[in-house]
Amino acid sequence: KDKAAIFDAHLMMLDDPELIGAVIGQIENDKVNAEYALKSTVDMFIGIFEQMDNEYMRERAADIKDIGGRISNILLGISDISLGEISEKCIVVAKDLTPSDTAQMDRNMVLGFVTDVGGRTSHSAIMARTLEIPAVVGTQNGTINIKNGDFVILDGDNGVVIINPEGKIIDEYNKKIDEIIKHKNELVIYKDAESITLDGRLVELAANIGSPKDIAAVLKNGAEGIGLFRTEFLYMDRDTMPTEEEQFQSYKEVLEGMKNKPVIIRTLDIGGDKKLSYLPIGEEMNPFLGYRAIRICLDRIDIFKIQLRALYRASIYGKLKIMFPMISGLQEILSAKEIIEEVKQELRNEGIAYSDEVQVGIMIEIPSAAVTSDILAKHVDFFSIGTNDLVQYSLAVDRMNEKISHMYDPYNPAVLRLIKMVIDNGHKEGIMVGMCGEMAGDQGAISVLLGLGLDEFSMSAASVLNARKLVRGLNYEKAQEIGDKVLNLSTSVEIKEYINKML
Ligand code: PEP
Ligand code: MG
Repeated sequence: KDKAAIFDAHLMMLDDPELIGAVIGQIENDKVNAEYALKSTVDMFIGIFEQMDNEYMRERAADIKDIGGRISNILLGISDISLGEISEKCIVVAKDLTPSDTAQMDRNMVLGFVTDVGGRTSHSAIMARTLEIPAVVGTQNGTINIKNGDFVILDGDNGVVIINPEGKIIDEYNKKIDEIIKHKNELVIYKDAESITLDGRLVELAANIGSPKDIAAVLKNGAEGIGLFRTEFLYMDRDTMPTEEEQFQSYKEVLEGMKNKPVIIRTLDIGGDKKLSYLPIGEEMNPFLGYRAIRICLDRIDIFKIQLRALYRASIYGKLKIMFPMISGLQEILSAKEIIEEVKQELRNEGIAYSDEVQVGIMIEIPSAAVTSDILAKHVDFFSIGTNDLVQYSLAVDRMNEKISHMYDPYNPAVLRLIKMVIDNGHKEGIMVGMCGEMAGDQGAISVLLGLGLDEFSMSAASVLNARKLVRGLNYEKAQEIGDKVLNLSTSVEIKEYINKML
């Protein structure tokens, strides 16, 4: 009932003479078409509401945006399809998909998707990997070249889309599908095997998740822990903040599901390409450099505390490690840890149990954190390197921009040197150094990262068995030699050629 009340408010806005009058006035006076008049009026109202001091009024900006978008779709004859409700098997072709669009997809109906924009590490691509939905992103012209009803081959491994192929090509790809299925079945023998090199170096192969629902795939693929739970997905696709109780139930479910294996839960990392309708951040020139993650949490301590309370309450159900995203320097760690102490004190006052064993770590994904990792290591229990952001910040290459995706390169010598610096500084203080960016699941990178001394590799669950097979065939001493050599090469082309030769 209270959710339906939102639509009453929307209906009232539709009748509002100020809104409608402004649109009609523009059509009559400026001789513009209805779609244009609507968009400029709605944008103006959104701007006004977003500037207001009152939080309730600021949140109304999202309502205006919603109704504006829906009227616009009606005017343009675009039907409003919910991706969660697709009822026939298909490949989705879109200009862009938000992470929550991807999260809603039904794996049984959506066989794959193609987008015009975005990069490999945009969150809709990361979600696709978690859900094992094949995807090709950043094609620039997919929506122009592909028409409804076309027969499409989508090869996510190689970033290839073939439209209306000949029978011969279809046969080739059917054979490839058989080979992939056979290879997957063969990997099952590695499910309970140790992640150990030929000469005895043991590492941890963990999984990245976005929801408790992902645990089934994590267990099926024999991951040794959760290296990153992106909790922001609990906050998405809804109209209000998840309550402490809702969050507690989700964290408990994950910790219990992982049966005392380590679980790294990252505190809210909203902003960038992940948005919440009910927490409008406003338009930013550079969202990935903007009001994001720990910056929001240290500003909105009310939101942060609810999450920390839920985490500490859940801590007694497994081996919890808490991780802060987007740390740029020591002060943020100290402030966040102070809030943790306040939360623990509150729980003690209320007689609520929590574990004393909870480790607190940080993501190293901003170059300033990598460069000062010797300082930061003294104040935390672990590091996890977030290469998705570290690459974009250190090379100044937007991870979402398909036009410069060829420059987004984890093998750039600058990135590899930063990674080495972080691992060495972490080890000097005796703390674990892991990685939860997409690079950790990249077959080519694993041997180098192993050689550089990485302790934990966290990736999409579907990549774990392949990684374990690879690690078990590697020699740590040899990998260290490869790592040393790579750090002395000058370009990523040389580095990739060298790695290919060695592997
Ligand atoms: C990263 O930046 O590498 C990371 C794991 O975090 P996210 O992809 O959610 O930004
Ligand atoms: Mg990140």
